[in-house]
Amino acid sequence: MGIMSRTPLIAGNWKMNLDHLQAIATVQKLAWTLKDARHDFDDVEVAVFPPFTDLRSVQTLISADKLPIRFGGQDVSRYASGAYTGEISGAFLAALDAAYVIVGHSERRMMHAETDQIVAEKTAAAVQHGVVPVVCVGETSEDRESRGAGVVPVEQLQVVLDAVQPAEIVVAYEPVWAIGSGQAATPDQAQEDCGALRRAIAGAWGDEAATATRVLYGGSVKSGNIAGFMREPDIDGALVGGASLDVAEFAAIARFRQHVGL
Ligand code: PEP
Repeated sequence: MGIMSRTPLIAGNWKMNLDHLQAIATVQKLAWTLKDARHDFDDVEVAVFPPFTDLRSVQTLISADKLPIRFGGQDVSRYASGAYTGEISGAFLAALDAAYVIVGHSERRMMHAETDQIVAEKTAAAVQHGVVPVVCVGETSEDRESRGAGVVPVEQLQVVLDAVQPAEIVVAYEPVWAIGSGQAATPDQAQEDCGALRRAIAGAWGDEAATATRVLYGGSVKSGNIAGFMREPDIDGALVGGASLDVAEFAAIARFRQHVGL
């Protein structure tokens, strides 16, 4: 795991699952489960990324009950406001106290034709509104074989690093073959790419930014494999999809120190 100054982040991307009523029940249950386990949220941060229609309910619950769980959106518009039907401004996320927003998830890159340039603009929009972007990058297995480990994700991140002034961001390395497939990368593979991404941050934004930035691994993370990833020096947490919908499983991932002795 990364050096002590980087607080690990376990982030749950719910994708298009759980309506606002289910969201309230899920966040409540997650909070109780982690409280019962005496989870130290300052030691390992926990965040959920519900669909947009859930966010107000999640915010209200978290603020009323003073829950130590953080939350964010799954996407953000690159524009601040205006005639962009269906889009959500970073200003709206900030007004809801969203700490984070995912940008450039591979599902959006593929299904919504999000280019590296658009991802860079969305990253800039989030930063501008004071919402920390979780910038997702990743390669297909063909990319990795033909171009080499880390080459495509570093190229994707480089566009963001060149377009945005140094700021707090989170980077998530998510190999496309590992997402939702049950076929996680090995810790070695993930470390290789996360290390390359950190070196790219150092090159573009300097060593201080590289040391401060959290780099997550994502792709079929479960309670049974999180330990291996968290032992790696350049992996500072996980972006969890499917397993984040199961409260006991997601809580067990957040409790990785219990089962790895880290
Ligand atoms: C994701 O979509 O970000 C993800 C990592 O999904 P899963 O954990 O289901 O592979």
